[in-house]
This record gives sequence, structure tokens and C-alpha cells, in this order.
Amino acid sequence: MKIICIGRNYSDHIKELSNERPKEPIVFIKPDSSIIAKNQNFIIPEFSDEIHHEVELVVKINKVGKYIDESFSNNYYNQIGLGIDFTARDIQNKLKDKGHPREKSKAFDNSCMVGDFINVEEIENISNINFELKKNSSIVQSGNSSNMLWKIDEIISYVSQYFTLKIGDLIFTGTPSGVSQVISGDFLEGFINSKKMFSLKIK
Ligand code: ZN
Repeated sequence: MKIICIGRNYSDHIKELSNERPKEPIVFIKPDSSIIAKNQNFIIPEFSDEIHHEVELVVKINKVGKYIDESFSNNYYNQIGLGIDFTARDIQNKLKDKGHPREKSKAFDNSCMVGDFINVEEIENISNINFELKKNSSIVQSGNSSNMLWKIDEIISYVSQYFTLKIGDLIFTGTPSGVSQVISGDFLEGFINSKKMFSLKIK
């Protein structure tokens, strides 16, 4: 399986990193080796001094598809979850300056935290999902799917032009503002519409 991620999909997050607003979705991929095994901690890698959390809604693909028309995108998933796209911001900034590929900052081992999923039927409105991340019991990130620049169905249609979607593939849909550094001892908890989706210790 693969993990497809969308960058800069919330304008408040684009502003906080002083990035340019993209004209089309920014897409990158994490390998399956980036996933943190169930009930494991996130261990800060030796190569970075600045790991940031990015909490994101995650769509789980349940049908093979390519060149999916946006009006049919909803047939390709029935679960939405919450995860963290861990980012080595110091490495990312160096690679960005040189115009080099960003995988070392985004796709390293344990950079992908996947929490629980909710069936789509249990969600009242896909375009109005509230989610938040607490760090040491304080809310650090809160978002709503209505603020995505590209909505879930648009993302599925867009990425399927380039990549065949397969059963079990995950799509990380971008992070709202509030990204910040994690340090050893931090405790993270993620929520969708107030329902707890994951908890994670930073070591
Ligand atoms: Zn992200």
C-alpha cells in the first residue's frame, strides 16, 4: 500500500509557514515503512532537531481506481480517520532551499501515525468534520474539512490521474495551522468531532 499526502491544503497553515498558495494540489508519497506500528511510541530520529506534528484527516481507499471522475470519488472510500504527518522541518527547509526532493524530511521511518477510522455513514457531513490535536492536554491544532482548499472528492480525482488507487491506500489531506515541535516526553491525542482517534507518546 502507499500513502499519498497533500501539502498546503489549508490557507491558515500556508500563512504560518510563509508558503505560496499552490495553483494545484501539492502531492507527495510516503512508503509503507513510514507507518508507526500500533501502540508504539514516536521516537525522535537522530538526524533531526526539529520534528513537527501535522494532524490530518485521512481517507482510506476501498476500491481500485484510476482517472476517477470527481462525481464518483465517494465510491472509492467508506472510512475517514485521523493521523499525523510527522515532518523534519529543519531537513525540509534545507532540501527546499536546494530544490531537492523532500522524502528525507517527510517519508522517514515512523513519520506516519495512523489512528482509528470512522465509517462515512456515521459522519453527518463530510464537508464539515471538526478535528483537533492536543499536546500535553492543550489544543494545539484544530481544523474543519470545510476549510480545505481541495476537498476530499477533488483530491481523489486529482491524484488518481497520476497514481492508480488501490485498496488500503491512505490519503493524508493536509494540515491546518498550529504545527509545532515535539520533544521527548510530549503526549499527543487526536480527535474527530470530539471522538478520540489516537494517543501517542513522543520518546
Ligand atoms: Zn502534512
